Amino acid sequence: MRITSIREREIPLAAEIRNAYVDFSTMTASIVAVESDVIRDARPVTGYGFSSPGRYAQGEIIRNRAIPRLMRAEAKALLDPETGDLDPVRANAIMFEGEKPGGHGDRSVAIGAVDAAMWDLAAKLRGQSLAQLFADRFGNGAVADSVWVYAAGGYYQPGSGPDALVAEMTSYLGQGFEHVKMKIGGAPLTEDAERIAAVVEAVGDGARVAVDANGRFDLDTALAYGEMLTPFGLLWYEEAGDPLDYALNAELARTYSGSLATGENLFSVQDSRNLIRYAGMRPDRDWLQMDPALSYGPTEFIRMVADAESNGWRRDRFIPHGGHQLNLALAAGLGLGGTECYPGVFQPVGGFLDSTPVNGGRVKVLDHPGIGVEEKSNLWAHFRDL
Ligand SMILES: [Mg+2]
Repeated sequence: MRITSIREREIPLAAEIRNAYVDFSTMTASIVAVESDVIRDARPVTGYGFSSPGRYAQGEIIRNRAIPRLMRAEAKALLDPETGDLDPVRANAIMFEGEKPGGHGDRSVAIGAVDAAMWDLAAKLRGQSLAQLFADRFGNGAVADSVWVYAAGGYYQPGSGPDALVAEMTSYLGQGFEHVKMKIGGAPLTEDAERIAAVVEAVGDGARVAVDANGRFDLDTALAYGEMLTPFGLLWYEEAGDPLDYALNAELARTYSGSLATGENLFSVQDSRNLIRYAGMRPDRDWLQMDPALSYGPTEFIRMVADAESNGWRRDRFIPHGGHQLNLALAAGLGLGGTECYPGVFQPVGGFLDSTPVNGGRVKVLDHPGIGVEEKSNLWAHFRDL
């Protein structure tokens, strides 16, 4: 098996929304196609990968660093020497050649999109779903029939108040979700308290509502919000402070008795390890949200899971950020706690296959080749073109 070409493109992920930090109206993503010389049904077997919402497309790094390194490598350097199968872990290491450690950021998005395409290709070459490949290689061989998902939304929409927020949140229940997440930190604390109270009342139970500050708060504000949030008994309180301020998180964990969640802006196993070492995260109640599509791909994400397990965390405490089909495959194959979903926004990457609507707060996992992007029509339209 040889890689014959790797192509990439930037696609828009535009959404007229904002969180405490980012206006998403200019958001983009990278999509990547890795074509092999294996022909089936008169077409080359091709792997597809994509980046996740929240970070922008990284075409330049993909074109100038990741792709040339892979295309220069000897074909056999990408293969498992025992089985002769494509080994995405080896491909990932080749993409790292010439990269210094530390400072994980946009390059982790670039390498992540290519890594995802390598995994998609590896599963297709073996004639199996990516969830099954993950389960065989890193799990117990069993793929979950369905995965728990929650609806992430509740962004600040310019010009609309709590009524629009409540209507949005309750609409997710009508779409089959049982848990919802809303943004906080983009308004003063008292206004956010009113927004949360309105949503909890409409949804019926604070344990079905999570809140997300997107890393905006300093320590005093994080603690003040913690005090305000406690009586609601929320599902979790997400990214209170800067993602790399482990001391802030540790201080918050000492005083906030509810669940905390963070990790979507940590892009390496070293950052993830430091979170577990220094941020006071509690394995009995807190949640880890690292996103494979932003953090060098499934290869690095699986290292994060293994590292967390060796530090006393169960893998079902991982609920990846991102809301897409790649993370569904990881959750189903590895036995993670679930994955995020952004109903209606961040299309075409966001959401799952056309034939798998959310039901009872869960998404069915189908047995299709690879990630399954061919069965998500709005995403497939971009890949077919690429
Ligand atoms: Mg978040």
